[in-house]
Amino acid sequence: MKKLSRKQIIGILCAVVALVAVVSVIVVDRGEAAEFVPYAQFAQWVDEGLVREVAIGDTLVMAFQLHSSENLYETSNPRNPALTEQLLLAGVDVVEQGAFVGITSLLPFVLLGGVFFFAFRAMSKNSGKGAMALNVTATDVSQSKIGFQSVAGNVEAKDMVSDVVDFIKNPDKYARYGARMPRGMIFYGPPGTGKTLMARAIAGEAGVPFFAVSGSDFVQMYVGVGAGRVRELFKKAREAGRAVIFIDEIDAVGKTRTSGASGGNDERDQTLNALLTEMSGFEGTEGIVVIAATNRLDTLDEALLRPGRFDRQVEIALPDLVGRESILQAHANGKPIEKSVDLARLAKQTVFFSGAMLENLLNEAAINAAKSGKETIGQAEVDKAFYTVIAGSEKADRSGIKDKERRITAYHEGGHALATKLLSPENSVAKITIIPSTKGAGGFCLNLPPDKMYYTKAELECQAISLLAGRAAEEVVFGAENVTTGASNDIQRVNALVKDYVTKYGMSNKLGLATATGEVADQICRETVNQLYEKAAELVRRHKDKLDKIADALLEKETLNEDELDLLLA
Ligand code: ADP
Ligand code: MG
Ligand code: ZN
Repeated sequence: MKKLSRKQIIGILCAVVALVAVVSVIVVDRGEAAEFVPYAQFAQWVDEGLVREVAIGDTLVMAFQLHSSENLYETSNPRNPALTEQLLLAGVDVVEQGAFVGITSLLPFVLLGGVFFFAFRAMSKNSGKGAMALNVTATDVSQSKIGFQSVAGNVEAKDMVSDVVDFIKNPDKYARYGARMPRGMIFYGPPGTGKTLMARAIAGEAGVPFFAVSGSDFVQMYVGVGAGRVRELFKKAREAGRAVIFIDEIDAVGKTRTSGASGGNDERDQTLNALLTEMSGFEGTEGIVVIAATNRLDTLDEALLRPGRFDRQVEIALPDLVGRESILQAHANGKPIEKSVDLARLAKQTVFFSGAMLENLLNEAAINAAKSGKETIGQAEVDKAFYTVIAGSEKADRSGIKDKERRITAYHEGGHALATKLLSPENSVAKITIIPSTKGAGGFCLNLPPDKMYYTKAELECQAISLLAGRAAEEVVFGAENVTTGASNDIQRVNALVKDYVTKYGMSNKLGLATATGEVADQICRETVNQLYEKAAELVRRHKDKLDKIADALLEKETLNEDELDLLLA
């Protein structure tokens, strides 16, 4: 460890104090040393069915064991309440770590101490490399058979990335023409659609090492660790020469910074800045490509999407009918499936299934056959598996979504698109969809404002009205009693925006440049939001015919791009 910032030194001092206070608890918790693996590795082992048992508590790391050995492993604890269910569904035993439940008051110390303990151990392990070490090792995919042929369907996405393979192989060729290849690509789409698979396939096709990490590996409580890990990761990739760096769950570091939140998050900002700095430090001739994956593009910080960064955004969508059939065929390969099982028909029945769900379906069918000692996999096993997968699946499968909900979503997203198009023509509405992107989110309208230094008062107001137009459309079309919870994210964002508008930028007519806080400011923000909402509702009412057109098109096609939207409004 060379240069430590003051913050880091203070952090270490605090950690030492905390460590002394809690060392006994930690010793009890940890027993002997466990090997730390990145979360992405853990997730992959879970996918592959290698994990036997996971102990989940409230700590920063969680311990787990594999079927194959008695060794103890640890990985970052994403502290995602849905994880337990996911693991149970994947057949992993979950042990709730009750040790800390009764002493929640000690929790902050335990966490702090845990971080220090972990950092300390990492330091002694790779002595000389510093406490920031990230345990990442490249997978050598050149030997493996993963390539584009492993990715069934997803034709458009494959098209969009095929030139990158050539670039990794011959960066000089592109440099000679002065072409700037994307340094970063973002794969976005629902879980299980093959984003990780596609990234691996690119590395496989190019025959270069694949460095996979998860965004959550970077987000630590100890300021500076994440940034250090980013630099470490890029250093390793550079040492390998050409490489594909894959950052899963990029939202963990790159979520939109909402100004309403408690003064921002130092650690995350530092990590994000380190990532952007490393990426802009690339020479065009290095043959290193960074691929990030996220379920939701609309929640990412715009700074990530600017030119020279993750400037190629590739949608990895749920497969359509043809895609589903080819994914089923790919995974049927090597399984003794009876001729009478009609995969084309199965593809028709599996509307809204992701690739992972289709793979899972055939796997369950194979397990069913094996359990009953049958030689082959027949229709009965497939049917049984179908229900297991459906019942076990979360909202990711949209088959249960009612028509009414789809209609509301179509009008809500349509409202955003309409307002943006009418009020902020210089923005780009890159995509609008009613396909739910994650649990709870009905759809989204991707609205990219132009990159500029200043926004005018009028522009900020238009932005706020566009955010409110989703809820306004719900109210105008379905009535005040029928508005939904779908607008909660919009409402949070608009309130943060208006708060800045009033208190930071001095734009409210009532308050002017004076600064106000507390009650007074809150009151003015409330009035401003209400006025803007009235404007949004007014706009929706006046252009209801256009809104109907957008909503109808969405109900029919589910997704519209900018050209299709312009055509509707022309
Ligand atoms: P994501 O990263 O988007 O969540 P993954 O790449 O982890 O999805 O996919 C999980 C698994 O689902 C893959 O390992 C593969 O077995 C299966 N799968 C998903 N999409 C496809 C596809 N297009 N072709 C073949 N298999 C797929
Ligand atoms: Mg993945
Ligand atoms: Zn909305």
